Amino acid sequence: MSGDTATTTTTRRLTPDRELVAAVLASGGEDLRKCMQCATCSAVCELADAKNPGPRKEMLWAQWGLRDRLMGDVDPWLCHQCGDCTLRCPRGARPGDVMAALRRECVIHYAAPHAFGRWVNQPRSLVWIALGAAGVLAAAAVAWQASGVANVELAMAGPRTVFPFWTWLPHWLLGTVFALLLAFDVAVLARGARRFWRDMNTASPSPQPSPRVAGRGGGLPPARGLGASWRAAFRRIVWHEDFGLCAQSHARRTSHLLVVYGMLALWLTSLWVVTARWNPLLEGLVYPLGFWNPWKLLANLAGLSVVLGATLMLVERGERPATAGATRYADGALLGFLLTIVLTGFATELLHFLRVEPLRYAVYAVHLVSVFAFLWVLPYSKLAHAVYRTLALVHAERIGRGQR
Ligand code: SF4
Ligand code: SF4
Repeated sequence: MSGDTATTTTTRRLTPDRELVAAVLASGGEDLRKCMQCATCSAVCELADAKNPGPRKEMLWAQWGLRDRLMGDVDPWLCHQCGDCTLRCPRGARPGDVMAALRRECVIHYAAPHAFGRWVNQPRSLVWIALGAAGVLAAAAVAWQASGVANVELAMAGPRTVFPFWTWLPHWLLGTVFALLLAFDVAVLARGARRFWRDMNTASPSPQPSPRVAGRGGGLPPARGLGASWRAAFRRIVWHEDFGLCAQSHARRTSHLLVVYGMLALWLTSLWVVTARWNPLLEGLVYPLGFWNPWKLLANLAGLSVVLGATLMLVERGERPATAGATRYADGALLGFLLTIVLTGFATELLHFLRVEPLRYAVYAVHLVSVFAFLWVLPYSKLAHAVYRTLALVHAERIGRGQR
C-alpha cells in the first residue's frame, strides 16, 4: 500500500429469527413493534446503566429477532417485572411484557425436546397432558395388577390400614413413577442450565477478580468469585429482595414468598413420606398419618401457604393491565396446577377423615393426575424460572452487576 491509510470494515450478517419474533408477539409482546427506541424505559429501569440500556436493547433485539443475543442475555432474568417501564413507555410498547415473553422463550429454547416445550405451553395441550398423565397412572396400576403379585403390598403393609385404592396404586409404585418423573425433570433442567450458563458467559464474560481494581473505588465494580456469587444470589432469593426495590412490585413479595416456601415445605414433606419405608428417622411411622403428626401439620400449613399466596397472585394479576397470550397462560397454568394439587389434597384429607366413599378415591385420583402432569411439564413451565433466574443472578454477581 502506498502510504494510504488502510481501513478495515467488518461486516456481520444478522439473521433474524422469524419464529422468535412471532413467539414474542404471541406471548404478550404484541406491542413490540410500537417501540421507537426513545429510551424512556431505560431511564426508569433501575437495572439499566450506560452499558446495559435495558429494556430498550431487548426491544430492538426482539424486533430484529436476534435469538443469539437474546438467549444468553442476563437482563430479562434480572427483570422482576415491576412494570415501571411499561407504565412510562410513551408508545404503549409494554417493554415489561416483552421481557416476560423473552423469559418464556428462553425456557422453551433451552428445553429438550424443544418442540415438546413449545407444545406444552399452548392452552390446547392441557387436556392432552391431563389425559396422558391419567393414562400412564392407569397403565401402571393395571400392569401392577396383571403381574399377579399385588397382594405382596398387602403383606408388606403388615398391620397398617390398607384401603382398596392403595392396593391398586401402592405408595411404593407411586413413589417410583414420581421418582422417574423427577429424574426426567432434573435431566432436562440440567441440560438447559448448562447451555444457558455457557451462553451467558459468551454474551457477557465475567472479568477476573482483581484486588487492584477493587481497591480503587472507581470504574467497574469488581467481579466476585463463584462461591461469593452464589452466596450473594442466594441472599437475594431467600428474601426476594428485588421485589422490595420497586413500589409497584412490593406487594408481590408477600405472595411469592408464601408460594415459594409453601411449595418447598410440600416437597420436603412429600419426600419424607414417600421415603418413610427406608427412612430411619421415621421408624414406627404408620401411614396414614394422624392429624396432629408434625409432618401432617407441616404439610397442611404449607398447603394453606400455597393457597393463600396463589390466591393473592391471582388477585394481583386481575388488578394489573392484562398481559396477552401465552405469557398469561403460563402464569395461569402454574397457579392452576398448584391450586388444583393443594385443594384436591385438602379435599382428599377431609373426605378420608369423613370416610366418604367412593368420592374420596375419585378426588385422590384427580390429585395424583395433577401431580403427575405438574411434574411432567415442570421443566417447560414457569417453575423452570427458579433454575434460570438463579443462574442469571449468580452470573450477574460474577460480572459485577449484582451489587446495588
Ligand atoms: S419500549 Fe417504549 S420507552 Fe422503551 S424505547 Fe421503546 S418506545 Fe421508548
Ligand atoms: S419491568 Fe421493571 S425491572 Fe423489568 S425491565 Fe421494566 S422497569 Fe426494569
